[in-house]
Amino acid sequence: STYEEGLEKSRKSFTRRFKEMMANFRYEDEEFFEELEDLLIESDVGFEATMEISDKMRYEAKVENIRTVEDAERVLVRTMIEMYEETNPNYIEFNKNPKGLTVLLFVGVNGVGKTTTIAKLAHQLIEEGNSVMLAAGDTFRAGAIQQLEVWGDRVGAEVVSTEQGGDPSAVVFDALKQAEEKKIDYLLVDTAGRLQNKKNLMDELAKMNRVIEREIPDAPHETLLVLDATTGQNALNQAKQFQEVTNITGIALTKMDGTAKGGIVFAIGKELNIPVKFVGLGESMNDLHEFSSEKFAYGLFK
Ligand code: GDP
Repeated sequence: STYEEGLEKSRKSFTRRFKEMMANFRYEDEEFFEELEDLLIESDVGFEATMEISDKMRYEAKVENIRTVEDAERVLVRTMIEMYEETNPNYIEFNKNPKGLTVLLFVGVNGVGKTTTIAKLAHQLIEEGNSVMLAAGDTFRAGAIQQLEVWGDRVGAEVVSTEQGGDPSAVVFDALKQAEEKKIDYLLVDTAGRLQNKKNLMDELAKMNRVIEREIPDAPHETLLVLDATTGQNALNQAKQFQEVTNITGIALTKMDGTAKGGIVFAIGKELNIPVKFVGLGESMNDLHEFSSEKFAYGLFK
């Protein structure tokens, strides 16, 4: 899906309600702005971003004299883009190793779409002519290794794994050796997202990071937290917990096509200060996009 297609649910709900509200734009009426705030909060925009948006609208209504629906909408879209770009300066490109193997670590709890996201990215990188290897670092969850192997087969990426219960750092070590030997361009590492046991998770990720850094000094080039957009506030809470156990450099926000709320991207930007690097807009292999706040905002308000 394109941004436009993937954001259809949000457009039909959040955007439509917003436009209806704007059709009765009551710029001198404080109650109007309170209703706007309610709508933004309900749409997962988050408290801080909501306040910034409504303050901006108030200001523009007073100072810039905006009166029409079109003007109000234009101001809102611009505000959202600007606000997002403040926290998301490198929003187009994820970090790569210009001189060789790029290592990307994926973290996140079960069910958020971690495996699918790895597979989608692998597929796209391969389509662009890169070689990709996958490391099955989730040795904890039953079936995780096999699931990654199935995806590896499907997209044409070799998978390095061990038996269930094995040491994830050993898998990563093995994968790094093989990837360097075979001059692979990208190594995508799956991990177990065991938030129930934070101490273990922290130790496990720290150990993986040490193994990776020892082999390639600037790696991992990204530690991507996978979050499910349909879980709203829950996703934000997960992010805060993962931030406590490791250094998250970016977010892959899945299932944006499955939510009618549409605002969570802005809450992530404002409240977590972690850039969204990828957004999932559907179930097919081509439905992962590098995040663009501009495309996103226009997809919502086209
Ligand atoms: P994991 O447990 O985190 O590895 O989750 P999976 O990768 O197995 O994904 C769980 C479900 O979410 C699967 O049915 C995926 O097809 C689905 N999924 C993942 N990403 C997206 C997305 O961007 N949009 C939609 N609609 N479904 C997605």
